[in-house]
Amino acid sequence: MSSPFHPRPAHTYLLSSPLLGLLSPIHSLLLHLRGPPQPLPPSGHGHGPIRVVCISDTHTQRWEDVPDGDLLIHAGDLSNDGSVREIQEAVDWLKSLPHRQKVVVCGNHDSFFDWRSRRLEDKEPRGGDGGGVGERDGLGEDKDIGEVRLSASTMTASIHSLEDYDYERDINRIDWGDIHYLQHSSVTLTFPPSSSTSTSTTSTPSTPSTTKPRTLTIYGAPQIPSLVPFGPEHAFTYPPHHDAWSSTVPPSTDILITHTPPAYHRDLSPVFSAGCPFLLSEIWRVRPALHVFGHVHAAYGIEPVFWDEAQRAWERLCERRRVWLPAQGKRTSGIMMYITGILRDLVDVQGWVDAVRVVVYGVVGVVWARVWGGENRGCGWMVNAACMYRNSGRLGNEPVVVEL
Ligand SMILES: [Zn+2]
Repeated sequence: MSSPFHPRPAHTYLLSSPLLGLLSPIHSLLLHLRGPPQPLPPSGHGHGPIRVVCISDTHTQRWEDVPDGDLLIHAGDLSNDGSVREIQEAVDWLKSLPHRQKVVVCGNHDSFFDWRSRRLEDKEPRGGDGGGVGERDGLGEDKDIGEVRLSASTMTASIHSLEDYDYERDINRIDWGDIHYLQHSSVTLTFPPSSSTSTSTTSTPSTPSTTKPRTLTIYGAPQIPSLVPFGPEHAFTYPPHHDAWSSTVPPSTDILITHTPPAYHRDLSPVFSAGCPFLLSEIWRVRPALHVFGHVHAAYGIEPVFWDEAQRAWERLCERRRVWLPAQGKRTSGIMMYITGILRDLVDVQGWVDAVRVVVYGVVGVVWARVWGGENRGCGWMVNAACMYRNSGRLGNEPVVVEL
């Protein structure tokens, strides 16, 4: 019945945990009242804000009027079938956009980038490299490509390690143009002052300028937790209770791009969270100024994060109330889930303490910013930039623009 990627009716949230159902709008209101985060400029002075345009999950389609900006980010799922052909078409569209800098990560649908999930038609025999994925012999070309991919992927995934494969050579089969493609890698981009006359020059660290340029270090990673049994055509999946994130993101990261959301932020939480708790722990360590992701289309939107005790208490509450699959999808679980949720709320003293913390520290944050005139420094934004409107098959969510 239920997919972890579909939103539930409001009463389901309320009955599954009345405490969280009532606290959630209060928490959102307090975040809103604090005003916008002002992440510290990573470097440079006398420089205007950098306009970052965030999109994700376009699934072969094109958004007609992408807003202008200094940096365009695509957080994965460029394609539907993950073929080189579909990915190249999406990349060609991104190349045609006027943004000065562009950064892309892949999503689970972009199976070409993970050769274990790659379509057989894209698995080139590797002339002379003595191995890899050239096992096309004996597989008739008129067979259903999905079946063939399934057997080939299952087989090769168990035989070959990821280290075997020539990552650089593979990604260069796509004509990227001026786009930076990140896969467990970083890039540092330099943005000349907006008064700079050179708009056509792609900035580099050596760009001469009278005013100091700003730089942003961006890290991108594609892996997603398999909340449902994804087929082998999905790229970079891992079991949901597996830690695929600890100590992977460089501490100098200003912008983090992943395909999956972290747990409890723009991921259909509370209670029915579809994000990754290990990614959440990792971003607490790194605290990027901006985290862009997609994947959970129905959780599209932007959220400020303040990395304080209110946020910590809210996440603890969400973690204790989280319903994991397969319980999420059980038809019989409805009434029992409600009864369990209500009883748990009643007896969970620690939960009530955390609920009070969410409100008290949230109010302190509002007073700090609005009454005492404090600045919202050291915090940031989280953006679920999925352009696909739920699972409608059409793009309905506008690109999100963030100024850093
Ligand atoms: Zn998607």
